[in-house]
Amino acid sequence: MKKHFIVLCSLFCLLLSPAAFVEAAWQPELLVSLGTAGTTLRLSGNVPVVLKRLDNKKVVWQGKAKEFATLTFTDKGWELNGRKLKKADAAALELTVEDERNLSKLVSTYDNKSYRGALRLLPRKGSLQLINRVTAEEYLQGVVPEEMPAEWNPEAVKAQAVAARTYALRQRKRHAKEGFDVCATTHCQQYGGVAVERAAASRAVKETSGEVLESHGALVDALFHTDSGGMTENSEDVWGSRIDCLRAAKEVRTETYPWEKNITVEKFSELLAKRGKNIGTLKKIELSPIKIGKASKDRTVSGRVKQVTFVGKNGKASITGNDLRSMLGLKSTLFGMTMNRNVLFIKGYGWGHGLGMSQHGAKAYADSEHYDYKQILQHYYRGAELKKLY
Ligand SMILES: [Zn+2]
Repeated sequence: MKKHFIVLCSLFCLLLSPAAFVEAAWQPELLVSLGTAGTTLRLSGNVPVVLKRLDNKKVVWQGKAKEFATLTFTDKGWELNGRKLKKADAAALELTVEDERNLSKLVSTYDNKSYRGALRLLPRKGSLQLINRVTAEEYLQGVVPEEMPAEWNPEAVKAQAVAARTYALRQRKRHAKEGFDVCATTHCQQYGGVAVERAAASRAVKETSGEVLESHGALVDALFHTDSGGMTENSEDVWGSRIDCLRAAKEVRTETYPWEKNITVEKFSELLAKRGKNIGTLKKIELSPIKIGKASKDRTVSGRVKQVTFVGKNGKASITGNDLRSMLGLKSTLFGMTMNRNVLFIKGYGWGHGLGMSQHGAKAYADSEHYDYKQILQHYYRGAELKKLY
């Protein structure tokens, strides 16, 4: 009862407060590492900007919209357009807006590369580390088109936007020790800033604004991959631990995204020997045929390889599907393996770990089954709740 009373009061205050109408809705910020740059940068903002010390927030320079400044870091400290920047010394700096409520409207540019939000410059030995401080929705505009073609079915792109948002917010402290939240590469999520933005992807971000996937009150590990090949995977079959929302899910079509790889028996034997499995000349491969949807002793329910046994002249070696995938650089663990004379033929389907949403699968559900993004997400993240976080 008391809780309801407080909620009602806050709601009432919010309705009364004129600020609630003018301020942009709250949303989380992310610190995204853009890597390093040389010690001289040409900087500007699309709106009036300030350059502040990161430690004491003192403004060291103010710039008009689109006014360029050449900033150099030398062993004597910062220089702006060739003149020493007073009160800056060797401090880390941030190019931002004077009024933080306008952060989502700022586009910062350095050396012709543009990113929404503020830009932090951290002096390092012989270089500058660049960190983009950006609101979550503006960040996603530079992520979604990198992860899925923007021209795909809008419902699939919306599902991608929700998955990417959930993933980013869950990964938020991943690089905390290095002074930022996420990196801009596939290690976290590929982020290309304004240059990669596409209207259709930005629309998908906007139409799902603030929506995330939750389970038991926590953000879901919203993994995704290119193509499952026919069925996604149970988490325990990849990691060994069960996660409720990452369950094997069927696809519209099976045996999608076919690929092949061949390797000579000699080369393969060398790779085995390197791993301490010296079995001599390979004579036989023990692996059952692919059956999508039916588990066997050496395959998971999705048909992915659990393990393959190689029988050689001097002994046997069993290797897991995941180990074979990294050892041979395979696109997935959904494959068959045969031997003909001195060549191993590997034929497989799909691309990626198979956990969570298959991007090609999401497109197929949107195109041929007319699933909306909520149905797509429910299919790939079973039991997850779609929640508007802000
Ligand atoms: Zn990372």
